[in-house]
Amino acid sequence: METETLTRGGEFVDLAHEAEYRSQNVPVWRGHVRLVFQYTALVALLFCLGDWKFWRDPHLCEAVIAHAVVVIASILCLKLASSADSFARLQLVCLIWAVPVIGASAVLIIPHTAISLFIALVLPATFYLALPLCFRGALAVGLACSAAALAATLVAAPLSDSSLGLLLAMVTLNVILVAVLIRSNRLRRLQWASTRLAHAANQDLSEHREMLRHILRAIPTPLFVTEKNSGKLTQINDSALSYFGEVASMESFVDTFSIDNHLDRRDLARLAMILETRGRVVGFETRIHLPDGTSRNVLLAAAAIEIGGTETILTVLTDITARKEMEARLERLATTDSLTGLLNRAQFFAIAATEIKRAQRHQRPIAVIMIDIDYFKRINDNHGHDVGDRTLKALAALCRGLVRDHDIVARLGGEEFGLLLPETEQRQALALADRLRVAIETASLDGLATPITISVGVADVRLGEMAVDAALSRADQALYVAKRAGRNRAVHFEIPESLIPRSTVADIR
Ligand code: GH3
Ligand code: MG
Ligand code: MG
Repeated sequence: METETLTRGGEFVDLAHEAEYRSQNVPVWRGHVRLVFQYTALVALLFCLGDWKFWRDPHLCEAVIAHAVVVIASILCLKLASSADSFARLQLVCLIWAVPVIGASAVLIIPHTAISLFIALVLPATFYLALPLCFRGALAVGLACSAAALAATLVAAPLSDSSLGLLLAMVTLNVILVAVLIRSNRLRRLQWASTRLAHAANQDLSEHREMLRHILRAIPTPLFVTEKNSGKLTQINDSALSYFGEVASMESFVDTFSIDNHLDRRDLARLAMILETRGRVVGFETRIHLPDGTSRNVLLAAAAIEIGGTETILTVLTDITARKEMEARLERLATTDSLTGLLNRAQFFAIAATEIKRAQRHQRPIAVIMIDIDYFKRINDNHGHDVGDRTLKALAALCRGLVRDHDIVARLGGEEFGLLLPETEQRQALALADRLRVAIETASLDGLATPITISVGVADVRLGEMAVDAALSRADQALYVAKRAGRNRAVHFEIPESLIPRSTVADIR
């Protein structure tokens, strides 16, 4: 609290502030006032009883009346003070009480008894410090009381030796009392203001905590806070609770939850390492195992933060299972042929490029086969498009079943299929092509009374070729030769006729 906010008398400059301070203190001050009035009434009564010593003294009457006035004024004001419910009323009661008490005290001081000096010095202190008066009120009553006491003292012997000393003592007393009053005013108000600030700050803090808790709970993305060292859960939002399937009891969930039970150990270690080195993780992709036994793909974002001196980890989880499934579906659609389930033409070219580069790097043979169903149009025309489709599927399955796992089989379009055979010499490739031809020729296909046949073109990828295009074109040329030679044949682009197996010999020339 800045000193400028207080007046010279130690009161708040801001009147509303001062009024609030006063009104908040009314109950306490009322108690003080009642105590002062009760004590004054009691002391005055005792003095009144002790007035017997003035028996035969001309001052007896004044003393008894003065004490009686103080007793009566105190009792009456005690009643008024008890019902005073505002500072203004309480102050008014004090001012009303001051008038008879100051007057009576002056009367009691005049006889110059031993108690006179005591009254003259103590009474101003009462008005300055013991009663809840505003600064100006306290100053006015304190000065009035001092002046009355001084006047009463000087009235009997105005020019005695001690008069000047008494005057100085009274002035000094007033200066000291005013200084104490200002200091007390200031201290009490500063203390009140700082208590009020601390209270407001505490309230603010708890309101913010509550707000933060509400926000955390309301965030629609699963979020949880765990202690860094123990892994113990300290906060979890509703979304995370329902994600883990434990909506019923948050307390039991918080007690038993540990993220270690839901992530793979290796991912957990990786996550911890990144958090340790960078303090935060964004877009950490992993799989999370849920209590119902299912696993989901998630993206984690986590940050190490200190809450109340404890190192904690705030983790936000985004479920990407649907997105992953969609990606996989799209990738399947983009890379496979929907009818046969084989790779499509684009994917055949892409994979073939990789395989050919590898084969060239290691100087290993790699061959290409191209298959075309003979007279396929007739199948469609005679048996319907459905039978044609089933035939394509059957041929795809037959091809896939006859080749090795690492051979690539694709539908290049229509009723044409392409095979890429890593680690395969020309002779082996031709032999496989013929095995395929025979397998098709001898297979009984659903919906077809007579078997179908295929023509096959075979070619090797030549040294230095980095893509499949040239070899596929040569295989296509060989396939054309097979067709021209009467179909149902396998022809290698480079193998002389004498080396081609009898059943598949095609007339290249
Ligand atoms: P060839 O022995 O000379 O190869 O004769 P072909 O009838 O097989 O050749 P052509 O190119 O004239 O016919 C290919 C046919 O394949 C024409 C088309 O209707 C059919 N076809 C292409 N794609 C599909 C498909 O996805 N399903 C079905 N059922 N038929 C298809
Ligand atoms: Mg064709
Ligand atoms: Mg054909």
